[in-house]
Amino acid sequence: MVLSLSSFTINRERMIQEQLLARGIEDVRVLEVMRQTPRHIFVEDALKEQAYGDFPMPIGCGQTISQPYIVALMTEALELQGHEKVLEVGTGSGYQAVVLAQLCARVYTVERVELLMNRARRLFDRLRCHNISSRLDDGTIGWPAEAPFDRIIVTAAGPQVPAPLLEQLADPGRLIMPVGSRSEQMLQVVELIQGELRVHDITPVRFVDLIGAHGWAD
Ligand code: SAH
Repeated sequence: MVLSLSSFTINRERMIQEQLLARGIEDVRVLEVMRQTPRHIFVEDALKEQAYGDFPMPIGCGQTISQPYIVALMTEALELQGHEKVLEVGTGSGYQAVVLAQLCARVYTVERVELLMNRARRLFDRLRCHNISSRLDDGTIGWPAEAPFDRIIVTAAGPQVPAPLLEQLADPGRLIMPVGSRSEQMLQVVELIQGELRVHDITPVRFVDLIGAHGWAD
């Protein structure tokens, strides 16, 4: 019998072993979803062979798809059980949204760049991710009509957590976002439990700018 595994499948498994397991990602659901999700279709053709590398990659419009380890770390930190409504700010390529969609009830994802949003929407259709709602808007104001959200993930960096996002967080709820200057940030988890906010730091990171009413100026 000839076993034919595509180079993408092999690279993806290597990513799981060498980048995620080796660095302590333990949530088996997160690992399984990232083992199944074709990350290479979220980058342009010329970059497909590098899609499972240990680095962020350009997706056009000056934006990036996060490094696989950062996607895994942020997803694991959300502690999803499966029943949650999750708001993502910064759809970008759509990869993170597709990972989330396999781990929760529904993803609401917001992007401000139309070209990226259109491309991501085509991928949501192609992968039959019917539990993703998307919106072209400034995500720093959240998505009031669909609030509250059990989890919120912001995949661009701002000077502080936008106040509307804290207002739209369910109780109990959990938000993750890179917070800091334009050049370096701390990945922070904000937990809301019985009306009380608790913040803890995860790791220093570098993300692209969160641009909007409650982020950086354009
Ligand atoms: N989660 C993405 C990575 C996104 S990069 C992925 O999996 O590929 C960050 C994205 O945030 C960029 O596409 C950028 O345009 C977007 N962004 C920045 N500020 C925003 C805002 N206020 N509202 C919505 N999207 C924003």
